[in-house]
Amino acid sequence: MSTISPKEMYLKQLERAAKIMQLDEDLLEILKQPKRVVRVSIPVKMDNGKIKVFTGYRCQYNDFRGPFKGGIRFHPGVTEDEVVALAAWMTWKCAVIDIPFGGGKGGVICDPRELSEGELQRLTRRFTYTIMPILGPSIDIPAPDVFTGEKTMAWIMDTYSAFKGYSEPGVVTGKARSIGGSKGRREATGRGVSIVADETAKYFGEKIEGMRVAIQGFGNVGSHAALFISKLGGKIVAVSDVSGGLYNKDGIDVKALMDYVKKNKVINGFPWAKEIDGDKIFELDVDMLIPAALEGVITLDNVDRIKARYIIEGANGPTTPEADEVLFKKGIHVVPDILANSGGVLVSYFEWVQSKLGFWWEEEEVNDRLERKLRNATREVINMAHEYDVDLRTGAMILALRRIEEVYKERELFP
Ligand code: GLU
Repeated sequence: MSTISPKEMYLKQLERAAKIMQLDEDLLEILKQPKRVVRVSIPVKMDNGKIKVFTGYRCQYNDFRGPFKGGIRFHPGVTEDEVVALAAWMTWKCAVIDIPFGGGKGGVICDPRELSEGELQRLTRRFTYTIMPILGPSIDIPAPDVFTGEKTMAWIMDTYSAFKGYSEPGVVTGKARSIGGSKGRREATGRGVSIVADETAKYFGEKIEGMRVAIQGFGNVGSHAALFISKLGGKIVAVSDVSGGLYNKDGIDVKALMDYVKKNKVINGFPWAKEIDGDKIFELDVDMLIPAALEGVITLDNVDRIKARYIIEGANGPTTPEADEVLFKKGIHVVPDILANSGGVLVSYFEWVQSKLGFWWEEEEVNDRLERKLRNATREVINMAHEYDVDLRTGAMILALRRIEEVYKERELFP
């Protein structure tokens, strides 16, 4: 694990890009801080009849470009600083793909694996009720993140709607299709990872077909990234999760592994691959490495052992700035989170638009728009990196910050 906090990470990345592109100095000062961070206590009646008080956060980082947008995670490791960093990354992410949102993020300190369905529902509803004054389809729109999903979004939407007195599907994205979700949203982040990976490889004159790929994390992002990359002809030779790692030099059958995980929750015990140590995933002789779990996993401690030529960040914040420097010097292409995993929030935007219109698109339309937008954003990011002779992360940051700067200069500052 990294010793540098996610907050130190995003500030370093921001300052680095700001210096290179000569970002307006006043704007830089504004962008170093979140606009608002709300910390709440969430009393929940547990199944044993006792009250347990949880802590939750919602950070609204910046809204120059539109309403705050970003997921809510339920995880024992949630901290205020982490939520702030994730909200900052959402701000840059929405600007990189040029959608009219700012950035936000929420988190509740809890271990959902130890909570019953009823406890989770009461926790989610009470959290929603407590942050309700700052939520809304034109204010702040949550979505799924680590250990939250369609069901969590349904409870948030239902609680919000109950208080409003009418159904408001636009208050969250990542909902089930039956209550106003978008076709293709569930797979969108992983599908996006595969598109960005493919476009990056093409840009550098290579093909994803035949590449050996290792994926750390097999949740919604990791599993779908594996599935779509294997559909493009990539060979998923290794996968890891909290329970350990799997390796098969001929390629893991991703569909079979997804079915296995549906039943068994974890990858451990899957019969058609060799078991390996989970941490070894970073050191394997592969072409492409996809971290798709949590922050701070590629650090000075393991960066020298990485053999992959491409790192595609399915997770938010997996690479520390120090490791970034080493990777850049070694010529390893690191496709940053704010581009690589932006397919999720992009289809969230499509979902929000559909909610506004009350008109739902066919899956083909969602996927076509996703693909076009991400291939284009990938080329823009790489071109920007080449223009400034910097790594892809800094290229993406410059692209995002230019767009935020444009809005800032046009709208100016209140009062
Ligand atoms: N939690 C996802 C992310 O980190 C999705 C956010 C959203 O759809 O608003 O990008």
